Amino acid sequence: MRSYQIVEWGKPVELREHPTPTPKSTEVLLRVTAAGICHSDLHINDGFFDLGEGRRAELGKLGASLPLTLGHEIVGVVEALGPDAEGVEIGAPRVAFPWIGCRQCAVCEHEREQLCLSPKFLGARVHGGYSEYVIVPHPKYLIDYGNVPTELACTFACAGLTAYAAIRKVAPLAEDDYLMLIGAGGVGLSGLHIAPSVVPAKLIVADIDPQKRGIARQAGAYETIDNSDPDAVAKVIELTGGGVRASIDFVGAPQTARFGLDILRRGGSLINVGLFGGAMALPLPLMPQRSLTLRGSYVGTLEEMEEVMALGRAGKVPPIPLDLRSLSQAAQALDDLRAGRVAGRVILKPDA
Ligand SMILES: [Zn+2]
Ligand SMILES: [Zn+2]
Repeated sequence: MRSYQIVEWGKPVELREHPTPTPKSTEVLLRVTAAGICHSDLHINDGFFDLGEGRRAELGKLGASLPLTLGHEIVGVVEALGPDAEGVEIGAPRVAFPWIGCRQCAVCEHEREQLCLSPKFLGARVHGGYSEYVIVPHPKYLIDYGNVPTELACTFACAGLTAYAAIRKVAPLAEDDYLMLIGAGGVGLSGLHIAPSVVPAKLIVADIDPQKRGIARQAGAYETIDNSDPDAVAKVIELTGGGVRASIDFVGAPQTARFGLDILRRGGSLINVGLFGGAMALPLPLMPQRSLTLRGSYVGTLEEMEEVMALGRAGKVPPIPLDLRSLSQAAQALDDLRAGRVAGRVILKPDA
């Protein structure tokens, strides 16, 4: 089978041909029909996340080894089953939950595999979906996407799930509460689409790109704001009569996190989701005085994946803009994403 792999950290992914694996025990072999390119694939390709102040989290020290096939937004058709794989039929189209843990530690036992200390994440620790085939360790990680289009279904595994799990953390909000979504890229836009099914709040979207703000307004944002405007914080405070109840930062840069914190009303929460990188100085007395909550949210649980996919199957999640490319263009597509040359989610399709 052909796969596009990181062979050296920081270098373009390369085509590698190797034998198609045979599924063992509970494993399932999926024939990949679509694989989304996520912004974090750039960081994984680089081999590190920028922690700010000159510090890095290096994937090589976190259990990833090379070569590694990228791709954690994976849709495929069940091609072969291991002898103990039950509950899914050959030929079934499924989206894979990629945030798989060791299935042995206490974290995994409490069904929060995405927080496992020895993760086996598809496309980040073990081989993922920039490939003709991928091994999924157990049928329980395969989710029926119903009549959601295949190219869209893969985006639920990261963009949709990440947005959904973050929004779940701000609930419950009331109808007259404001929720700020910072960053109208793939995940932020998913958040805008999913939020009305989870919280009744008024949704404001902040982005520095006027085109993305336009997309957000069309997608139903109550209001949009240019967070690069020096008066952006004051404008939000005025618009909301004192600040938002919660912000979700889908970017995760020092400037966006700061903005998300500064626009909170007393008792408000900032949920940090984006992995852009950097560090932020926190004015400590404000945390108790304003009774603020700062919380991180990393992808989501298998249960949350099933919930967000159920919203998708019920037609409650409008499609995000997609940019379809062939698998052989993987390296070019990553380059384009890095250079800001893509408007929607890039989806790799197998070469005909
Ligand atoms: Zn992702
Ligand atoms: Zn574990």
